[in-house]
Amino acid sequence: MSTQRYFNPAIELMERNEIKNLQEKLLPKMVEHVYGRSMFHRKNFDKVGLKPMDVKSLEDLKKIPVACKTDLEKAVKDFDDPMGGRKCVEEKPVFTFAPEFPAEGEIIYVSLSFGDITRLAEALARQWIMVGVGMGETVQVQGWSWDPLHMIVNPQIFPPGLSVTTASLLNCKTIPVEIMPEDIGRTVFMAKFFKPSTVFMSRKTLDAMVKFVEKEGINPKDLGYRTVVVRESKNVLSADERKIFEEKLGLKIQSMLDVRENLFYASDCPNIDGLHVWEDMYIVEVLDPEKLESVGLGEYGKLTITNLFAEVVPLLRYRSDVDVTLNFEVCGCGRTHVRIVPQNYK
Ligand SMILES: [Zn+2]
Repeated sequence: MSTQRYFNPAIELMERNEIKNLQEKLLPKMVEHVYGRSMFHRKNFDKVGLKPMDVKSLEDLKKIPVACKTDLEKAVKDFDDPMGGRKCVEEKPVFTFAPEFPAEGEIIYVSLSFGDITRLAEALARQWIMVGVGMGETVQVQGWSWDPLHMIVNPQIFPPGLSVTTASLLNCKTIPVEIMPEDIGRTVFMAKFFKPSTVFMSRKTLDAMVKFVEKEGINPKDLGYRTVVVRESKNVLSADERKIFEEKLGLKIQSMLDVRENLFYASDCPNIDGLHVWEDMYIVEVLDPEKLESVGLGEYGKLTITNLFAEVVPLLRYRSDVDVTLNFEVCGCGRTHVRIVPQNYK
């Protein structure tokens, strides 16, 4: 059982005023970074007559125009550039993926530098400890080629996937989860043999696993899991769904949300009281989708993310399709960073 409660307590337990001070420093730097280097951002700023020097504090965040997926798609066409004019570095990024392949419309590509991978791995290491992974344990992760969590294991040919980099920070071992639900048998048999403490998978894969163990008469306890983390890009498990899975498997179920276009990953702690967002890496807002203004605290709106760390393709005020409300209270786990509470989560 895990004994380490935090991976980076200096960050995870920061006082709210310290978090605010840090964000006030990081935001103008990020604005400077994107405005000076990316056509997408410069065009966005110029259309409202905004200059980097106009963004001095968190109060000024609302001056920055909001962007959504349609804007990213349009920019691919407008700039005739697969990155839609968003790329902010000269050098070649080490890893590029597409969060999804839409049936129609433009594909949005996202790239990472080694620095981006290193920073994200540290953020994920905090999350792994938060969901209950112990140092040195085996972790089973579902990653795929349109996602930086993929698990490429030959760093001489490809950069190691984020999961492998994260695992190395915690001295953990990783084993894969099959992508196709019909291949779930391999995932189950690997788990039976290697006894991973934690598994990260999608709702669809978990559903296939439940059906497989029922059909094969396998006791879910024999898989070794302590925690199953269900990762989704839009619809985080509802409280009812979580309860059904927990009853069927007799295991703790937690949630993770990703908004991959902006390299955003958030997960809940065992208190199941909202998904923690690392505020030294992101500023989150909840906006009314029509007016694009902040809703009142406790009200639901669209999760909007400003990336404070990425070098290659950070997005400012990226409006996702995820409906959430925010909770700024200190969590029962001691972490001070804001929690997003998706609809039907509680
Ligand atoms: Zn917590």
